Amino acid sequence: MSLRHGRPYLAIPGPSVMPDRVLAAMHRPAPNIYAGELVETVASLVPDLQAVARTGGKVAMYISNGHGAWEAALANTLRRGDKVLVLATGRFAIGWGEVAAALGAEVEVMDFGNSAPADPARLEDRLRADAGGEIRAVLCTHADTASTVLNDIPALRAAIDAAGHPALFMVDCIASLACDRFEMDAWGVDLMVAASQKGLMTPPGLGFVFFGPRAEAARARAEMASIYWDWRPRTEPEMFYQYFGGTAPTHHIFALRAALTMIHEEGMDAVFARHARLARAVWAACDAWSAAGSLRLNVSDPAHRSHAVTSVALQSPHGTALRDWLEREAGVTLGIGLGMAPPGDPAWHGFFRIAHMGHVNAHMVLGALGTIEAGLCALGLDHGRGALEAAATALVD
Ligand SMILES: *Cc1c(COP(=O)(O)O)cnc(C)c1O
Repeated sequence: MSLRHGRPYLAIPGPSVMPDRVLAAMHRPAPNIYAGELVETVASLVPDLQAVARTGGKVAMYISNGHGAWEAALANTLRRGDKVLVLATGRFAIGWGEVAAALGAEVEVMDFGNSAPADPARLEDRLRADAGGEIRAVLCTHADTASTVLNDIPALRAAIDAAGHPALFMVDCIASLACDRFEMDAWGVDLMVAASQKGLMTPPGLGFVFFGPRAEAARARAEMASIYWDWRPRTEPEMFYQYFGGTAPTHHIFALRAALTMIHEEGMDAVFARHARLARAVWAACDAWSAAGSLRLNVSDPAHRSHAVTSVALQSPHGTALRDWLEREAGVTLGIGLGMAPPGDPAWHGFFRIAHMGHVNAHMVLGALGTIEAGLCALGLDHGRGALEAAATALVD
């Protein structure tokens, strides 16, 4: 007998849960791609995406996942041999740096480990030492989806300014956009990358590069972008097909239209507040479980935790055992522990992640936490009591 027969819940950090309105928006015949509703819909996406990113800058849209957006961002701003500084707080910043290296950039990684944010003082010192201005760009994640560390973007910007350094500040918001508060222009971010399948609640397949005037100016000397990845025709299209460098992703466009409407109906401040509250409930449960046994939150300081996803450690192999139990017996799929230990290392089985990004509400989060509690009991894993009461209290505090 299994208790999973009901609506399954994919609680992994992307693809996230898609609203029924988003799913329904795609359930239609292929539209005319030369005129009419599709063309008007694409034009309407641009201001709504800018409003989510809180920028008056431009947005280039790609038929890609986040990795494609990473490449587009670099290809439109760098020349081969340019130096970039990666502030690593988990697997994803390192991955972006690997893309830069493969494109021909010289990559320097400042590694802050897997459970603490990038230190602005170290960044400032490094940039001060670069008196010749060799570093062209500073890359970091807002929320790293593997470690679930949240970086303090305004503090990092202040460090760049304090050093008087001209490097572009490029931020990966793929996990955090429309979950953790982010203010591209107010925070002085030159370029930001995002993707459709996390806080934007749309299937994987759209990548976005938002850029302000300084990044746009860098385009003139950049040399890595082929016609396909060049962001200029995509942001200044003379013909509709140029938005996507070919046939538009018709059904993704309708899906994203529905998702953006939902986000703006709720209101960005309310979206941020909901994610903050739900995250607090998750952390409260984890803190209660931590009182006995090995389970603990990966990031100890709540100020440095993302509101989109939470990484949890426990004794190996209990992370994998718990994930397996939840999927098999309860219909809840949790995220694997990513980048915390090498695959193949027994320690790899000592982590899991709970996603709480996008289309999630109180009953979904409490349901996920309740099934984790059931899994801990079923597997006989030691844990502190009172997690669900703590979570419920955190929701209404
Ligand atoms: C998901 C994610 C990526 C990679 O996106 P893909 O769509 O899987 O290519 C990159 N960075 C962050 C922070 C992410 O959360």
